[in-house]
Amino acid sequence: MSQMNKINIALFFAFCMVIFNSCGQTTGKSKSSAMDTTNAKPGNPYYSHTDTTKLNVSDAEWKKVLPNDVYQVMRHKETEEAFTGKYWDFFGKGTYYCAACGNPLFRADAKFASSCGWPSFFEQISKNSVVYKADNSYGMERTEALCGRCGGHLGHLFDDGPAPTGKRYCMNSIALDFIPDNKIKETTMENNIDTITLGGGCFWCMDAIYEKLKGVVKVESGFSGGTVKNPSYEEVCTGKTGHAEVIQVTFDKTITSLDEIFKVFFTVHDPTELNRQGDDIGTQYRSVIFYRNDEQKADAESLIKDLSDKKIYTEPIVTQVEKFTAFYKAENYHQDYYENNKNKPYCKLVIQPKVEEFETIFKDRLKTK
Ligand code: FE
Repeated sequence: MSQMNKINIALFFAFCMVIFNSCGQTTGKSKSSAMDTTNAKPGNPYYSHTDTTKLNVSDAEWKKVLPNDVYQVMRHKETEEAFTGKYWDFFGKGTYYCAACGNPLFRADAKFASSCGWPSFFEQISKNSVVYKADNSYGMERTEALCGRCGGHLGHLFDDGPAPTGKRYCMNSIALDFIPDNKIKETTMENNIDTITLGGGCFWCMDAIYEKLKGVVKVESGFSGGTVKNPSYEEVCTGKTGHAEVIQVTFDKTITSLDEIFKVFFTVHDPTELNRQGDDIGTQYRSVIFYRNDEQKADAESLIKDLSDKKIYTEPIVTQVEKFTAFYKAENYHQDYYENNKNKPYCKLVIQPKVEEFETIFKDRLKTK
């Protein structure tokens, strides 16, 4: 291992502006799409537990995205048979969401045992979660209850409910999705966590730096992009396995972001060096981003294009953007190498200055000790 290029602060600030400017275009889209897919349902792009944007979707489109039984009730106001739905005598703790669009509708603690055969609630979860419409069909004067976000038919509202409201929201089970409280916490946690694999030369340096970034949950050093399964460090050093030395970064998107992960990446290594970083020469030291999803791919490509278009570097960027296939964790002694070997000459002379420079540039973004 040899010294990697020093971080170029002037260069950092120059391309920082590119990243910030491109955030609105690249991650603006991906953040919104990430939000839209929170608690997503396959095949239904409108479903979200967090997006509150009102929907105006055509009947033909609903027909395409909803299962037919849900579609018939929610878009054509059919009623499921009493005592047949999945929630009429169910009393788990959690939240009920619109089955068409994912809008939160009722808390389980507003549900009460009713003899009517349909799930019944005395209160909606928020002021606009459920809306109403007069319904004079079948010679009756009733109040129809509809989802406040998508306008889907849920059931009817009656005045014979229990205290404190005296209301009875008589719902079709099929129009509801129940999510237990513990699942909501797990799902929220899972949705906030993302992982990306990055090759920027010596993984001891990369690991030492990302370990200090706020929001990074875990960093592992290893190998990706080659053809040999479970390679040893020595095998990778020959340059014949096709693997790159990489770090696998797991991060919490509510504390850091993909943009910041990339910002650090392009700051702490030289993306214009082909198959080397400084004196570390060979394909195992190549600059590479292994993406796991469309968002990571699009953000990486968009950022590289912006940096290239604006000629932030004098030489062309050679960073590869490759689909992730496998990560092989390196031997234990490579994990947290800097932290465990601070007194070794390589750590003092090579890694420590890079870490200190990173700490200066990202001083507001470091984990507190
Ligand atoms: Fe809805």
